[in-house]
Amino acid sequence: MSALSGLCFEMIPIQLLRKVSVFQGLTDEQLERIASLCTEETYSAGSLILKEGEPAEQFHILREGRVTLEMGIRMWPERPVRQMSVETLNAGQPFGLSALLESDNLTMSARALDNCRSIVLQGRDLLALMELDQAMACEINRGLSNVLASRLRYARLGLTEFLGHRQVAREETPEESTAIRRIQYGINFRWIAIVGVVLITATANMVFGIRFSTLPIFIIVSIIALYNLAFRWYTERMESAEAPNLIPHVRRYVWIQSATDLVATTAIIHYAGGVENPLFLYYVFHVTLASIILPYRSAYLLATLAVGLFTSLVGLEYLQVIPHVHLQGLVPPDLYLQAPYVVAILFGFGTTLYISTYLTTAVSGELRKRQRETAALHDRLLLEAEELQRANEELVRLDRLKTYFLAMASHDLKTPLAAVQSYLQVLLGGFVGDLEAEHRRMLERCSVRIQELFDLINRFLDLAQIEKGKVVEEMDVVSVQELLNSCAEEVRVLAADKSQELRTDIPADLPTVYGSPSHLKQVVTNLLSNGVKYTPNGGTITLCARELDDQLEIEVCDNGMGVDPDDLPHLFEQFYRGKGGDAAHGAGLGLSIVKRIVEAHQGQIWVESPYADGKPGSRFAFTLPKGKPAGLKIFGD
Ligand code: ADP
Repeated sequence: MSALSGLCFEMIPIQLLRKVSVFQGLTDEQLERIASLCTEETYSAGSLILKEGEPAEQFHILREGRVTLEMGIRMWPERPVRQMSVETLNAGQPFGLSALLESDNLTMSARALDNCRSIVLQGRDLLALMELDQAMACEINRGLSNVLASRLRYARLGLTEFLGHRQVAREETPEESTAIRRIQYGINFRWIAIVGVVLITATANMVFGIRFSTLPIFIIVSIIALYNLAFRWYTERMESAEAPNLIPHVRRYVWIQSATDLVATTAIIHYAGGVENPLFLYYVFHVTLASIILPYRSAYLLATLAVGLFTSLVGLEYLQVIPHVHLQGLVPPDLYLQAPYVVAILFGFGTTLYISTYLTTAVSGELRKRQRETAALHDRLLLEAEELQRANEELVRLDRLKTYFLAMASHDLKTPLAAVQSYLQVLLGGFVGDLEAEHRRMLERCSVRIQELFDLINRFLDLAQIEKGKVVEEMDVVSVQELLNSCAEEVRVLAADKSQELRTDIPADLPTVYGSPSHLKQVVTNLLSNGVKYTPNGGTITLCARELDDQLEIEVCDNGMGVDPDDLPHLFEQFYRGKGGDAAHGAGLGLSIVKRIVEAHQGQIWVESPYADGKPGSRFAFTLPKGKPAGLKIFGD
C-alpha cells in the first residue's frame, strides 16, 4: 500500500514510546518488550500510507513529519466521493489503530504530507503481546479509546467545516444534478428535432409539393447528429468527473450548445426558404430551454444571438448578398424582398423571443433560488443538530457528574461528622467528667449545629437518590390512609411543642396508590413540619385527603405566615428560601425534593397562599394517581 522508501531496524528507545499517549501508564519493562517489536519506515511526501476501508495491518507512531487522516464523503447519491481531511497528525501521534481493533471499518486513509518517518508495529505482534500481559492490554486499550474519542470529535468538526464549505453547501446540491439532467433532456430533444426536420422536409417536398433543394438540409442535419453525439459523450464524462466548479461549467456548456443549435437552425432556415419559412419560430424552443438553466444575462445574450442571426440572414437575403432559396408553391417568390413584411416578421420574432426569455428566466430563477434556500437550510439543520447533540451530551455528562459528586461528597462528609457528634455526646453525657455550665451550653450548640449539617447532607443524598430512580425502584402498593395517619402522629409532637393544633380529615375508605412508602412519607412529613415551622405558636395545621376521579388529592393547610406572592413561583426550586424562611432554619431543599418525589409518582404539587378568602396561611396540595400509573418516569434515565 505504502510508497515505502526505507526500512530501518535500529532499536526504538523506550523514552520515545513513553511519550506516546497510547502507551502511557506502561512500565519500562513493558515498553522494552514493545520496543523490541518496532521497526521504522520512511514515506515520501504525498504517499498513501493506509487506505480507507482496507484492513490496516500495521500500527504506526509518527516520528517525524506530518500525516493527514482522510475519509471519503459522498454528499449526494449521484455525486462522486470527496476526500475530507479529518485530522493532521504530528510527531508522536498514532495512526492505523484498526490494526489493533480488528475492524477495517474504522480505517481512514493516511497520507504523508511531508517526508515522514514512522515507528511501525505489526498489529498481530502487539495483540499477541497484549494477550499475554492483561495489565498492558488494559492500559493500551484505555489509550486507544481516548485517541478514538478524540478522532471522532475531529471527524465531527471536520464534517461541520466540510458542510459549511461554500462549494459543497451550495453548489454540490441537487441543483447540479438537475442541471445535468436538463442537458440530457436537451440532447434527447435534439434527436427528436433531427427526426422532425427530416420528416417535415420530406413531407413538404413530397406531400405538399413545396419545391426546394433538400440535400443541404440533410447535410446540416447530419452535422447536428454528429455534434449531438459529441455533446452526449462530453456530458457523460462531465457527470462522472469530479468538477470543483460544476454549475458555472454546466452553464458555459449549455450556452455553447444553444449557440451551436442557433447557428444550425439559421443554416436550415436559410436552405429552407429564409423569411418564407414559418418554422423560424423554432428558435424560441432553443432559447426557452437554455433559459431554464442559464442566468438572466446569458439567457438574454442567447436571445440576442438568435435575433442577430435571423435578422442577418433575412437582411443579407433581402440585400441579395447571399442567395435566397424560394419555397415554390408556398408563398409568392418575391416575399423576401417586401420590406414591410420582412420588418413585421423581424419585429414579431424579436418580441416573441425576448418575452419568452423574460418569462422563463423569471420562473426558473425563482425555482433556483428556492432550491438553494432548501439546500442551505439542510446544511444549517445538520450543523444545528450537531451543536444540539453536543450540548445535550455535555448536559448529560454534567448531570452525571453532579449526582456522583453529591453522593460522594455527602458520604465522605457524614463519616467525620458522625465521629464529632459521638464525641460531643460523650462530653455532654458527662463520661469524661463534669462540664461547666458555659462549656455545656457551647457544646450543646455545637451538637445542634452538627445535627443541622447532618440534615442538610441527608437532603443532598435524598436528591441524588431520587435522581438515580430510587423512588421507582421502591414502589409498591401503599395504603394512603395508614401512611397519612402515621405522618400526622409523628409531627403531632412537634406541633404540641408550639401549642399548635394538628387536625386531620382522612377518610377511612381511601383507595391505595402505587408508590414508594418511605418517599411518600417524606413528602407528607415535610409539608406538615413546614406547616409547624412557618405557623406561629397556637396556630392550626390541617391534613386532609380526598378521592377525585382517577387520583387522590392530599393537602396540608396552615393559618401561619403564608407565602409572599414574589416567592410563589420559585418555592419548589432547589435552595430557594422564601422571605418567611428566616423564621426558621433550613436550606431550601425540602420542597424541591418533595416535588421530585411527587413527580416520580406521576403526580402534581402546588401551593396556594392565601388559599381561601379571609384565611391567612398556605395550602400545599398534591395529587397521586390511583392504582399503578402507566409508564413510570425514572429520573436519571
Ligand atoms: P426550608 O424550609 O428548608 O427553607 P423548603 O424547601 O421546605 O426549605 O421551603 C422553601 C421555602 O418555602 C421556605 O424557605 C419558606 O419560605 C417557604 N415555605 C415552605 N412551607 C411554608 C409554609 N407552610 N408557610 C409559609 N412558607 C412556607
